[in-house]
Amino acid sequence: MIQDTRIQELNERPERDGQYVLYFMQQAVRTRFNHALELTIRRANELGVPPLVCFGLMDDYPEANERHYAFLLEGLRDVEANLKARGIKFVVRHGSPEKAALHYAKEAALVICDRGYLRHQKAWRDALADHAPCEVMEVESDVVVPVDVASDKHESAARTIRPKIHKKWDEYLQPLRPTKVKHPSLHLKVTGNIEVAHPAATLKKLKLDRSVAPTPFFTGGEDQAARLLASFTQSKLDGYAEGRNEPSADRHSYMSMYLHFGHVSPLELALHVRDQKNAPAADRDSYLEELIIRRELSMNFCNFEPRYDSYACLPNWAHKTLADHASDERPITYTLKQLEESKTQDPYWNAAQTQMVVTGFMHNYMRMYWGKKILEWTKSPKEAFERTLYLNNKYEMDGRDANSFANVAWIFGLHDRPWGRRAIFGNVRYMNAAGLERKFDIQKYVEQIHDVAKEHSRKETPK
Ligand SMILES: Cc1cc2nc3c(=O)[nH]c(=O)nc-3n(C[C@H](O)[C@H](O)[C@H](O)COP(=O)(O)OP(=O)(O)OC[C@H]3O[C@@H](n4cnc5c(N)ncnc54)[C@H](O)[C@@H]3O)c2cc1C
Repeated sequence: MIQDTRIQELNERPERDGQYVLYFMQQAVRTRFNHALELTIRRANELGVPPLVCFGLMDDYPEANERHYAFLLEGLRDVEANLKARGIKFVVRHGSPEKAALHYAKEAALVICDRGYLRHQKAWRDALADHAPCEVMEVESDVVVPVDVASDKHESAARTIRPKIHKKWDEYLQPLRPTKVKHPSLHLKVTGNIEVAHPAATLKKLKLDRSVAPTPFFTGGEDQAARLLASFTQSKLDGYAEGRNEPSADRHSYMSMYLHFGHVSPLELALHVRDQKNAPAADRDSYLEELIIRRELSMNFCNFEPRYDSYACLPNWAHKTLADHASDERPITYTLKQLEESKTQDPYWNAAQTQMVVTGFMHNYMRMYWGKKILEWTKSPKEAFERTLYLNNKYEMDGRDANSFANVAWIFGLHDRPWGRRAIFGNVRYMNAAGLERKFDIQKYVEQIHDVAKEHSRKETPK
């Protein structure tokens, strides 16, 4: 089902005679549970023309490096193969996404795009809508409840958005059935100029920031996302609520990176988890809370807060209390290089940083501890904010996401409340190593990461 509220007209031009209906795929890089793709097929069937899907591949996507591109390209490979199986042509063009879309829009009857909440994603769609010679519409497929339906303002916390989303979610937790293509497009004489069937070969040809190598720990694409999801629900969902915080227990789904790249739909995930009646309700509810409430709070934040990536985005109380304590003496400070190389005196922090650098993924609970320590160990809170965001977005596979910006800002008080006052943090929530030791088998986590890093460097070292 495609609810009307997922769809927005981006310009006032009419649809017209054209060779195809174009789907400008940018955020939802998948063929399953993709409302924009299904609407494209339905409109193409109605107009008696084929659907065409395009993607613009730029070399310098904001903050992306080779690690991110490797994953993205694996996703494009799956999309090409899975679209082909449905009779739909996929063309990938080198260059800025909106320019690629405008190139193919010249012959389109209308253009459909998916939705993103970050500044550059909005700008590309605006440019497309301004310059396309036909109707352009946007379909929101990467959240369960459309952002503007959930709320019309910046929500201050999970507790304020939760009742609003709960009230709506039954209406949106509806399956999306694939539509049969009446007029296949594989024969169209429209071409791209980038091959995606062999991601590793394409990766070599792009002019990229190669400061971070691809991670051998994760493979991109909707096919791999489906496999991982199945193994999560079979063996990890039962016990998720209790186990998700324990850093040494592998109790989470690793879906965040697939969500970030659009390789999996949050709707598909939510329906799948909701319907696992063998798993305890508390575990399913806990997963849906993270996936829908927490994640969509981040989308709300980036959508309504234009300064989402700057220190200025913090709530007033957090700004004030951090400013009041900005000149407190830091018992220890580290350079960015020391942090980046996991060279602090804190073995737990070093393990978390190593996990992120080596594998591309840090455990959720450790992300909180990791960020709080950067605040404690940096001369000013603003610099700490910038360092945290920089490291997160450089190394995390799920970095550069609405979730990245909201969660890094959480370290500094966003979506939280004032706590008891203490040095450096003021009223911002504090965390310490004693908490990790009390609650978790933190030593086991350190050993696990040590082993992973050792094994990784053994494989990387040329013989
Ligand atoms: C400092 C800091 C930085 C973070 N950076 C990112 C980031 O760059 N990208 C990112 O996607 N998440 C980020 N998170 C949130 C969270 O840590 C990850 O989403 C989660 O660890 C991903 O693992 P998973 O998919 O196995 O999660 P699971 O436990 O399996 O959860 C399922 C899904 O729920 C959502 N979710 C889980 N926890 C949160 C949360 N705290 N906030 C919002 N959504 C959540 C994610 O989409 C996740 O994939 C950050 C958290 C902190 C404290």
